[in-house]
Amino acid sequence: MGAEKHHQPERRPSEKQAPPGGGARGAASCETALDDQPVHRLAFKDFTIEGYSRAAVQTYWRIPEFKVGFDLGGQPWSFMGTPTWFVSHTHMDHVLALPAYVARRRMMKMEPPTIYLPEAAVEPVQRILRQMSRLDRGRLPCHLVPTCPGDEVRLSRELVVTVSATTHTLPSNGFVVWGVRKKLREEYQGLSGEEIRDLRLAGTEVARELRIPRLAYLGDSSPEGLDACPAMYEADVLILEMTFVSPSHRKERIHKFGHMHLDDLLDRKARFKNQLVIASHFSTRYRTRQIRRLVERRLPDMLDGRLTLWL
Ligand SMILES: [Zn+2]
Ligand SMILES: [Zn+2]
Repeated sequence: MGAEKHHQPERRPSEKQAPPGGGARGAASCETALDDQPVHRLAFKDFTIEGYSRAAVQTYWRIPEFKVGFDLGGQPWSFMGTPTWFVSHTHMDHVLALPAYVARRRMMKMEPPTIYLPEAAVEPVQRILRQMSRLDRGRLPCHLVPTCPGDEVRLSRELVVTVSATTHTLPSNGFVVWGVRKKLREEYQGLSGEEIRDLRLAGTEVARELRIPRLAYLGDSSPEGLDACPAMYEADVLILEMTFVSPSHRKERIHKFGHMHLDDLLDRKARFKNQLVIASHFSTRYRTRQIRRLVERRLPDMLDGRLTLWL
C-alpha cells in the first residue's frame, strides 16, 4: 500500500509560508511570495499531487513531476510553469482561468502551453480567447487540442494519458496517466547483452511496452463514468469527485446532475484497488467538519486508510 497513504493534504493557505520550489521571498520570479489561490499538497511515492477542488467554486490539479495539470478553474501563480493541461469539461469552475493562464505564460516568456479540451469546446474557447485578447490588448498564444474518448496522448517517453468518457451534464472526459516501461520479451530473456544488441541492430523488436496506471482523474461525473473506465479502479492514485455526502441528499437525484454521492463510493468499496483514493469537489453546502464526520461515520476504516478527503 502507499507509503504516504495516511497523510492528509498539507494545508498551505499562504504561499508566503513556503514558496513552492523554494524561491526567495520577494525575488522577481514565478516563485515570488504572494497570497494566492489555495493549494493542498500530498506526496505519493515518486510524485506529488497538488490542487484544490470545491464544486461551483474552483477546481485545479497538477502533478509537477509529470509536468501535467487537470482543469483550469483557477490558476495559482505557482502552477504556471506546468505546460500541459487537460480540461475535463467546460463548467466555469473548471475552465475560467484558462485565458489568465495563457496570458501569464506569455508575460513570463514561457512557451505557449498545450491545452486539451473536449472536442466541442475548442471552437468556443478559441472565440473567447480572441475576445479576451482584444480586451487585454495582448496575444494569447496556446495550442488548443480536441480530445475524444479513446484518444491517447503521449506526454513523454515514460508517460501516456488516455481519455475516457465521463457522465456529466455536458461533454466531459476523464483521464488516466500511465507510466510506460520497456520490458525485454520473454523469448530473449536468456540472451547476453551483446546478443540482444545484435538483434536490436538487425531491426528486431526485443522489448514490449509495459503500462502501469499511475494516476486517474475522474473530473465531474456520475458513477457510470467511473465504472466505464476500469483502469480508474486500478491506478495507484485515483482523484474522484464526491460532491454530496449527506443522507438527506439522495443519490438518484444527484446522478441526474452528473455527480457522485458518498453512497456510490460505499456501493463500490470492494472495487477500489488504488493505493490512494482522493475524494474532492465537495458541495459548498457542507462545512469541512461536517464532511469529515459524515464520511468517517459511514466509512470508519476510510478504505483501509487509503481514502483521503481533500479539504
Ligand atoms: Zn465541478
Ligand atoms: Zn461540472
